[in-house]
Parts: sequence; structure tokens; C-alpha cells
Amino acid sequence: MAATTHTVTNQVPPLVGYDVFNADRALAEGVERHSAPALLDETRAELTALGRTAGSAAAQEWGAQANEFPPKLRTHDRYGNRIDEVDFHPAWHQVLGQAVSAGLTDAWGRPGGHLRRAAGFFVWTQVEAGNGCPVSMTHAAVPALRAEPDLAAEWEPRLTSHRYEPGLRPAARKAGALFGMGMTEKQGGSDVRANTTGARPLDTEGEYLLTGHKWFCSAPMCDGFLVLAQAPGGLTCFLVPRVLDDGTRNVFLIQRLKDKLGNRSNASGEVEFDGTWARRVGEEGRGVRTIIEMVAATRLDCVLGSAALMRQSVAQAVHHATYREAFGGALIDKPLMRNVLADLALESEAATTLALRLASAYDVIGSGGGGGG
Ligand SMILES: Cc1cc2nc3c(=O)[nH]c(=O)nc-3n(C[C@H](O)[C@H](O)[C@H](O)COP(=O)(O)OP(=O)(O)OC[C@H]3O[C@@H](n4cnc5c(N)ncnc54)[C@H](O)[C@@H]3O)c2cc1C
Repeated sequence: MAATTHTVTNQVPPLVGYDVFNADRALAEGVERHSAPALLDETRAELTALGRTAGSAAAQEWGAQANEFPPKLRTHDRYGNRIDEVDFHPAWHQVLGQAVSAGLTDAWGRPGGHLRRAAGFFVWTQVEAGNGCPVSMTHAAVPALRAEPDLAAEWEPRLTSHRYEPGLRPAARKAGALFGMGMTEKQGGSDVRANTTGARPLDTEGEYLLTGHKWFCSAPMCDGFLVLAQAPGGLTCFLVPRVLDDGTRNVFLIQRLKDKLGNRSNASGEVEFDGTWARRVGEEGRGVRTIIEMVAATRLDCVLGSAALMRQSVAQAVHHATYREAFGGALIDKPLMRNVLADLALESEAATTLALRLASAYDVIGSGGGGGG
């Protein structure tokens, strides 16, 4: 008899089994508005496939698990050797792997690539937001790397690859690679000119050794990083690979992972450099000018990610109000509730429309190759 008091009624079923792309009219219409007509069918087909995966019960569960079981730092192996690796729950690899294989790091130089990627990023953020960090940084590193054509030729195919290959190995042995960014130090976040990490040139052209710390370096499991440090000619941008070409590990001492309120699925670390090998990207003294290409593209994703979270909130709220009943009827039929939901929907659609407009501008200014957005 006691169990009868635990009968579950008037609770809402999970929002799963839908197409996240086509269920969103503002998103689908935005893609139609900005797409070249010849590309529209193909773009829609890709986004529909991603939208269905995103709305599946399995993908939504990956998103929940990736946040329930956050990453763990392993500074040493059991024998005391320094390894500086990060362990993730399998759900994280599912989420990030799907993002990479859906081409969410591949937009530069592809006709209509930024619009398609932006809409895909928008859809996939509604599965899980933290994976957007390495996805965004990998995509955004491309225009900054192009300041150094040799490095771009070597790394760009790996960064835009649709293959997800986790694990620390020389990048040359990987079909796909991920990138992060290290600018912020304890004494200066926005004000990167206050950076104290030093870069000592080696005899070989373009090679340096870095010594110093980075207070915020997200996604430290990535294969390479764009980093700011003080060279003899001033603040300069560098490429720091996790693993050197000969297979030995570069010095990349992860001190601890950040204990964050949001973005919990993704690792963010504090990192020490101590004679860390690096390649210069762009001229000495032009560090901010060089890395700003990466920063700007990640900021586009801040717009997209925020708009996507607004959309997911509206979708959840409307879904909840559709099923939940109070005072003799569904919440969605109550005039005041409709006002609130309509207000949220309006804000969300405006944010979606603006985000896609911004992303499509990148297809005009960012497709030329030299310098990107
Ligand atoms: C989840 C997360 C992930 C991150 N990942 C990375 C990463 O991967 N790599 C990396 O390098 N950094 C990363 N950061 C750090 C981020 O780049 C810094 O937090 C950011 O640059 C701001 O620096 P700060 O927090 O030191 O704030 P401060 O620079 O101390 O600024 C404090 C406040 O003053 C405001 N302010 C600053 N300058 C001005 C100005 N000129 N005029 C008016 N207001 C101003 C700021 O907006 C802020 O509100 C991450 C941060 C977070 C929260």
C-alpha cells in the first residue's frame, strides 16, 4: 500500500527524440536567409542529421554524464613519472568526437562554411556546452596560424579534420588534432601586456624556450596551444605542442584543474612552462595582433553558444509547460504563462538571428585565407 503514495503523475517526460535543428524555426530560417541557394540543400541535410543526433536520448545522456563526471588531472603515473594527463568520462569523448566528426572545426576556406558550422555549433551546444571550448579554439586557431604559412600548412589539415583522435602522440602521427590557447596569467587577464612568461630564442630560426606560468589554459589535453610570451622584441605569439616530433613530451606542467561553476565537463588548467619548446607564430612584438585572430573567432562562438543556451532554455520551458498541469489545465494554456514564454522566445529568436548574421559575415571576410576574420 505504501507504494501507492509514490505514484508519479503530472511529471514531464524528458525532451528527447526530436530534431534540434528543424524544430527551431529561427535557426532553420536563419540558415535559409544567409545560405547561398546552391549550398542550401546540402547544408540542411547535414544540419538535419546533426539535429536528430542532438535530440536523441543517447546524446542527451552523454551531455548529462559528461557534466556529472568531470575530468580528473593525473600529474604523475603510479611510478612517479610526470605525465600531466587529463582523464575524461567516456561520455565526454562521445560528445567531443561527434562534434569533430560533424565538421564543427572545419569552416575556413569552405564555401558557406562558417554559416554551416555556426548552425551546427548552435545545435550541438544544446547537447553539451563544455565541449564547445576545445571545438571553438581548434576552429579559431586557423586564421592565427596562417600568420606563419609553414606552420599553417602543417597543422591546418589536422585542425579542420573530421577525425577525433584523443591521446598524446606526435601530431604528425594523428589524423586529427585539437588546439587550446594560453594568454591569461595571474597578474593579468584582459591586460595580456602584463604577461611575464619569457621566450628565449634558440639558434634555430623561429624556435624558442618558454619559462613562466599560465593561470587559465582551458582544454589542456589538446595537441597544441597558441601562447603569448615576452620575446626579446616584445610580446609574441608561439605554438606549443604537447608532444615533440621525436615522441618525447614537451614540458607542460599542469599544476591543477580549475574548480568551476560552469563549463564543468571541460578541463581548464593552470600550467607551468620550464624550458618548454615553442615555435614563433608571426613577428616578435606582434603577439596580440597575431593571437587576436583566434580570440575574435572564439568570441563569435561565445555569441553562438550563449544564443544556443537561450534556445535550449526556451525549448525546455515550453516542453515543461506543455505537459505540466496546474489548476485544471496545462501551464501552456495559462495566459500569463504564455506571456512569459513568448517573451523568452522573442529574446531567444533575436539572439539566434543576430548570431547567424554575425557568423555569415565570416563567410564574406574570412574565406580569403590571409588573416581570416
Ligand atoms: C571558463 C573559463 C575558461 C578560460 N579559458 C582560458 C583559456 O583557455 N586561455 C586563456 O588564456 N584564458 C582563459 N580564461 C581566462 C580569461 O581569458 C580571463 O578571465 C579574461 O581575459 C579576463 O581576465 P581576468 O579574469 O583576469 O579579469 P581582469 O582582466 O582582471 O578584469 C576584471 C574586470 O574588469 C573588466 N575590464 C578589464 N579591462 C577593462 C577595460 N579596459 N575597461 C573596462 N573594463 C575592463 C573586465 O571585463 C572584468 O570584468 C578562461 C576563463 C574562464 C572563466
